[in-house]
Amino acid sequence: MKKILSVLFILMLVLLCSIFYGANQDYEYTTTVEHLFTHCLLAYPSLAFSSDNPMRLDYNQDCITKDEFQKILDSLYKNDFCLVSLYDTFEKQGDIVVKKPVKVPIGKKALVLSFDDVNYDHKKMGLGMVDKIIIDSSGNLATSTIVKGKEDISYSNEFIPMIENFVKKHPDFSPYGAKGTINITGYDGILGYRTQSKNTETRQQELEKAKKVVAKLKENGWNFASHSYGHYHMKNLTDQQFLEEVTLWENEVEPLVGETKVYVYPYGEWQVFDNYGNISKKHQYLIDAGFEIFCGVGMKTFFSYLPNKNNHKVLFMDRKVIDGNTLRRKDANLYPFFDPANVYDYSVRPSV
Ligand SMILES: [Zn+2]
Repeated sequence: MKKILSVLFILMLVLLCSIFYGANQDYEYTTTVEHLFTHCLLAYPSLAFSSDNPMRLDYNQDCITKDEFQKILDSLYKNDFCLVSLYDTFEKQGDIVVKKPVKVPIGKKALVLSFDDVNYDHKKMGLGMVDKIIIDSSGNLATSTIVKGKEDISYSNEFIPMIENFVKKHPDFSPYGAKGTINITGYDGILGYRTQSKNTETRQQELEKAKKVVAKLKENGWNFASHSYGHYHMKNLTDQQFLEEVTLWENEVEPLVGETKVYVYPYGEWQVFDNYGNISKKHQYLIDAGFEIFCGVGMKTFFSYLPNKNNHKVLFMDRKVIDGNTLRRKDANLYPFFDPANVYDYSVRPSV
């Protein structure tokens, strides 16, 4: 009898374990993380590409339209990608920053989406992008743009409300609440608000408005990265000028968006090492400012360490660029995500 009971007990235990194991089988951890980026979208494509628009050729190279982005989202979802937070992909252990496995549902692939230059530079206003990110009267994220003298509030012409809507429709595209990383500079404010110290007239009001939008974005799963303060070519700055840049970021932007551990190089240009293979002064300034992971631009997947001869390790992640150029040349590296030929909008873009 005792023997039967103990066999039954073992069987029960096996059954419970398999139920428990089965219930936890729906996710896994991975360090394979893809990272795609683009710029602010062309919200008004026919305006952006109109023949008298001075930004027309730049936009045709560097940007994608809202409709192209929608097709990309559809395709990413169809190809089993799901959004993960860039901040969940690394952690500091002692002095070293290490890759941290990120949780994804079984069958899904981890993807970080990030967006550069999200300041809505006043020089570009009225030329095809939105003016600013706002919170509407119902508390939703939206865009606001003055079009022919009237405010146009939209939910479908910029990546922030578009991803918000897409995740509402397809919650499994963001299984654990991540949205994207917003890479901002500071020289002309952030998110369409003129928060820079040079704006002596309305800065205070702009800061208050920007803070509310930032809080809402964070609440909804967005995070921020530094894309430098002035968007200079890093190599053209002296060490001293670069330090001033980093300090401006710390003084003007960090108080708005909080501590930022991600540094996204303007133009993808980096100077991690000096001529002797040691950590460069510029890179050390970035480390001292609290940056832990460094993002470049590259069409091959690279999420690993940059070693130098002293064996320092710098955690580096390249980002594949989605822009007019990579769509137009049907870059093969984009095919796992979407078919560039299906996305490219021949109907609105100028022929080149
Ligand atoms: Zn940039």
